[in-house]
Amino acid sequence: MASRGTTATVQDSPDDEIHAVAGGRASGIPLVGKGEEPLIFALSVKGRKGFQLPDTGVPDLPAESLLPASCITEQPPALPEVSERDLVGHYTRLTHRQYSLDLGFYPLGSCTMKYNPKAFDEVASLATLVGVHPMAPPHATQGWMELLWDLEQALCRITGMSAFTLQPPAGAAGELTGLLMVDAYHRACGRRRAVILIPESAHGTNPASAKMAGFTTRVIATNADGCVDLASLQESLSDEVAAIMLTNPNTIGIFEQDVERICSLVHDAGAVAYYDGANLNAIMGVTTPARMGFDIVHLNTHKTFGTPHGGGGPGAGPVGVRSGLEQFLPGPRPVLDPSGRYRWDIPEHSIGRVHASHGNAIVLARALAYILSNGADGLLKVSQVAVLNANWLMNVLSGAFEVPYGDKCMHECVLSLSEYKRKYGVRASDIAKMLLDKGFHPPTISFPLVVDEAMMIEPTETESLQTLQAFVSAMLDIAREIDIDGSVPAKAAPVNTPVGRVDETRAARRPVVTST
Ligand SMILES: *Cc1c(COP(=O)(O)O)cnc(C)c1O
Repeated sequence: MASRGTTATVQDSPDDEIHAVAGGRASGIPLVGKGEEPLIFALSVKGRKGFQLPDTGVPDLPAESLLPASCITEQPPALPEVSERDLVGHYTRLTHRQYSLDLGFYPLGSCTMKYNPKAFDEVASLATLVGVHPMAPPHATQGWMELLWDLEQALCRITGMSAFTLQPPAGAAGELTGLLMVDAYHRACGRRRAVILIPESAHGTNPASAKMAGFTTRVIATNADGCVDLASLQESLSDEVAAIMLTNPNTIGIFEQDVERICSLVHDAGAVAYYDGANLNAIMGVTTPARMGFDIVHLNTHKTFGTPHGGGGPGAGPVGVRSGLEQFLPGPRPVLDPSGRYRWDIPEHSIGRVHASHGNAIVLARALAYILSNGADGLLKVSQVAVLNANWLMNVLSGAFEVPYGDKCMHECVLSLSEYKRKYGVRASDIAKMLLDKGFHPPTISFPLVVDEAMMIEPTETESLQTLQAFVSAMLDIAREIDIDGSVPAKAAPVNTPVGRVDETRAARRPVVTST
């Protein structure tokens, strides 16, 4: 059989055995979509292998002769023993039970779940990039260093900042990095400041990062327009305040009209203005965080610049600083010498490393590819179309659903479904489940917290008018179905998905993670 080091292509034990361990199902393999898929352990057959190496002629030695006794367990690990074919079948069937970005519309507000062109997968798998050892010396990695340098220059142009660290692996990690720099800045000025101001509508990672960086937080109220309440800001400012964290457009999808005033009030109090750049998709080429008055910015390359995310895969959260704060950036960072060579540099008052090597470098390569392939005009168009799509949706949906703030939005819009709760006892989460039945990934619900029964829709620029129309039709159908039958269809949904409605409390508290 597969004795020459190829993968095993022939099952090496009879078929009836696998049926026995998989629970005696007559058909053996479940159909795509509905139906149970057993855990991979239930497919295990003793002695079955997924891969066989050729006989190298090296004699077998007992483990005891090679490893210290403390490294040897009494029992072998309980790993599933399956053929490559069983393994691929198992995971392929699981993927068919999932909804994904490649499958369709994914309007999850605050997440920018745009379609990511396959060309960037090619970039991310270039052997000349992935084959480089992260600890190779600078003379062997000039190409990678140039790539990182070019990306940094591009991000500086896009945001107006003067330098970036590319190390943080996600937006939240960027926030922590930025806040550690805020702390280092105040210490360098000979003072300690303990408080971070965070608007009511902020993303949950903002207060979490502030806490992790050793700060306490103070909440700023939202005014009737959905923006930062200036009176509340002024009341909260004092010489205890280290920074404000703000995203603009904010999480309600509205541009903070008073953003320059906010930044100048914060600066007058000796504090730092931190920009949460997760919503950058709304403003590229139109304005910059620097123009608004911010000092430190994190970006989510996986939201804005062509990396799929949401499945726990790698992302990147570069952090940019205005001139004067470069000395606090994590290091080492690539710098271009006058000789035209790149070298690694550690800034004078660096907060130190925040990630091994140079961050999730391959995601950074994707980001540069995305930026270069769009160009400045293309990035402007990305933001313009993202904002246009969101406004179109908000406008059309506002006929049937309540829009709690404003009549224009940026790249995402927020509906309030509280009327359905009042009239029928139908929650935003019920409507989300009805959308699943109609083949759509639901938008974000119950966030931002300042909106009752919020539904937050971010269509992104990658969706066509036909897709947006289909989504609107689904939403209007749902509204009609609820008007006719009240909560009945809403509470039954979803019925067309591989898994029906689960008891969310029990699923969270007592998850069932075995198939027996
Ligand atoms: C997504 C998001 C974050 C966190 O980014 P991660 O990469 O998920 O850690 C922070 N702020 C806002 C406004 C976001 O939308």
